[in-house]
Amino acid sequence: MSFKTLDDIGDVTGKAVLVREDLNVPMADGLVTDDTRLRATVATLNELSDKGAKVLVLAHFGRPKGEPSEEFSLRKLAAPLSQVLGRPVSFIDWEGDKEAVAALKAGDIAILENTRFFGGEEKNDPAVIERFASLGDFYVNDAFSAAHRAHASTEGLAHVLPAFAGRAMEAELTALEKALGKPEHPVAAVVGGAKVSTKLDVLKHLVGKVDHLIIGGGMANTFLAARGVAVGKSLCEHDLTATADEILDNADKAGCTVHLPYDVVVSKEFAANPASLRTCNVHEVAADEMILDVGPTAVEALADVLKTCKTLVWNGPMGAFETEPFDAATVALARTAAALTKEGSLVSVAGGGDTVAALNHAGVGGDFSYVSTAGGAFLEWMEGKELPGVAALVA
Ligand code: ADP
Ligand code: MG
Repeated sequence: MSFKTLDDIGDVTGKAVLVREDLNVPMADGLVTDDTRLRATVATLNELSDKGAKVLVLAHFGRPKGEPSEEFSLRKLAAPLSQVLGRPVSFIDWEGDKEAVAALKAGDIAILENTRFFGGEEKNDPAVIERFASLGDFYVNDAFSAAHRAHASTEGLAHVLPAFAGRAMEAELTALEKALGKPEHPVAAVVGGAKVSTKLDVLKHLVGKVDHLIIGGGMANTFLAARGVAVGKSLCEHDLTATADEILDNADKAGCTVHLPYDVVVSKEFAANPASLRTCNVHEVAADEMILDVGPTAVEALADVLKTCKTLVWNGPMGAFETEPFDAATVALARTAAALTKEGSLVSVAGGGDTVAALNHAGVGGDFSYVSTAGGAFLEWMEGKELPGVAALVA
């Protein structure tokens, strides 16, 4: 996979560079409650500003559906972005944008108004692409998290302006390539989370790619049920047992070893440290019990599997980690993966909203080789789909 980066952009002094970023941050009472996405823009925006470009940030905010409104305006993000970048950031409305851009000086950074104030943004409308392109000399896509959408600002622009991957995009693509594109074998995948139904395509793709598929979380129950295990009151999609069987068959044919838990942590009620808490063999779950975590013996065996692997890709927690002690398996396995990564024997890439929260809960978010905060785009990449925003950069 080859794409141009900021190393290839050449002299941008005084040139206007349109940079697609992800500024879709959570806010409450007018304040940014999690600035992860803003911090991800620093490398690219400050580098281009240092190189003397006029930096024009393109982004969407919420779902305004083509209707301009104060609620979805990006004006409120100029101050928080400026604080994170440590330099001034101005705001440019879609009215008078040409004049405002012309007035910028080399090194200035400005946020353009919400791209979705144009209905044609999400339709990849040539008129909107042209409208954006007329403001800049170069296009930089730094928003992997929006790359699963073929929108004017995420895909269309790459075809009409010289296009480059920003630093965050470059880091994400490099990490993902190492984890699933051209990984060092053996490769392990941990797939957990609540339901099989939300990750069917991920599982189907991974069985043909990885050497070990470790299934945990609620979705393991569906696989256990498919194998004839009585899972009691556990979260389980009984209507998907045939699909689960098919996935297990395909894994077998592809030479992928599937690891299902053989001991589990169960309880009669879903609460923190419940009185009915116990650990048992998967074949001993009572009719009124729920499986809420993978058991300690299985976790030890899984840790041994990871020790034999060179690459790990992880999506989905192993148990209901938000409630103690059902975080134990996720925390233990995450710490093992982090330790192996630190030792240099494992390349570890993780992604998914709850997965990132779980890794941070385990205190190892910073110890994986790469943690993707991209959500939908990360999952589509795990499904083996081509992301239009990436494909346009690679082409
Ligand atoms: P991600 O956001 O990382 O893709 P998911 O949204 O698929 O992950 O799954 C996360 C959810 O799965 C968590 O809220 C967790 O509590 C739940 N979960 C994991 N294991 C179980 C289980 N055994 N029973 C019920 N819920 C579970
Ligand atoms: Mg989730």
